[in-house]
Amino acid sequence: ICWSVNGGWHRPRVSPYGPITLDPAAAVLHYGQEIFEGIKAYRHADGSVHTFRPDQNARRLQRSARRLALPELPVPYFLQSLRELIAVDGAWVPSGEDQSLYLRPFMFAKEAFLGVRPAHKVAYYLIASPAGPYFPRGIAPVSIWLSEEYARAGKGGTGAAKTGGNYAASLLPQSEAYENECDQVVFLDQDRNVEELGGMNVVFVYKDGTLVTPQSDSILEGITRDSILQLAVDRGHKVEGRAVSFDEWRQGVASGDIVEVFACGTAAVVTPIGLLKGKDFLDEQPSGTLALELRQELTDIQYGRREDKHGWLLRLDA
Ligand code: PMP
Repeated sequence: ICWSVNGGWHRPRVSPYGPITLDPAAAVLHYGQEIFEGIKAYRHADGSVHTFRPDQNARRLQRSARRLALPELPVPYFLQSLRELIAVDGAWVPSGEDQSLYLRPFMFAKEAFLGVRPAHKVAYYLIASPAGPYFPRGIAPVSIWLSEEYARAGKGGTGAAKTGGNYAASLLPQSEAYENECDQVVFLDQDRNVEELGGMNVVFVYKDGTLVTPQSDSILEGITRDSILQLAVDRGHKVEGRAVSFDEWRQGVASGDIVEVFACGTAAVVTPIGLLKGKDFLDEQPSGTLALELRQELTDIQYGRREDKHGWLLRLDA
């Protein structure tokens, strides 16, 4: 769908997958004016196709749009794009454990000009790709590298938006993580509070059963995290969103106050963190069963194996 120079979204068009033609002066290529979402479609045992909390992705895309000076796509248009893609490409939704169709909605500034200002001509696209487990080792605990030198986002920056610039900033630290034999990188803010991983939120489980997750305006508000915390509340756990300093993390693990640390996101679902590594330390992380139990509960809902008490699923193929 395109947003024209005069404003207003045009009729959507479904076309075969292929290259996009862009003017070399298209604003997105120079100023990074673009946003995206990540969402999955799941095939249930009866063959039907469902997605999980798509209204939340639609609203987050609107929040990202506001921050990036892009026009907001109305929620019904977002949902319609998911349905239309499934109507054409529904056969691509795989079945089986951890299998899904990953849906990637994105919007970018198409207008060609060289000055720095918000573009008036914008395109919204949706593409999809079948997806399996995110980490090659399945749900084995992941190792995390502390990025000391680099930040992903700053106060007042674009950290809470899902925009390419944040990911561009995370590529070099992510390479550093690989060089140090870690799977993922964790970012701190300027006050050394924990932010998030390159593509996942972090949750700490305290020994009194409280789940604590960093809250700040420089991290992405994960939909998986919100859902996992809701499932934990349903089980009687307390949850807190607040600043968590890096020292609190290390000391909490050392003293036994923190009994589990896990990461969560649409792609990896819920993954325990097994190791935290920095330039001059290596902390083993405590392991427990809560993360894996919550993961099971969440995936059971997503794949239609457990009652969807919160009304989180939306059927796409009917
Ligand atoms: N943080 C970042 C930086 C991410 O890219 C993602 C994945 N979208 C998340 C957190 C988790 O968000 P969600 O649970 O909505 O996928």
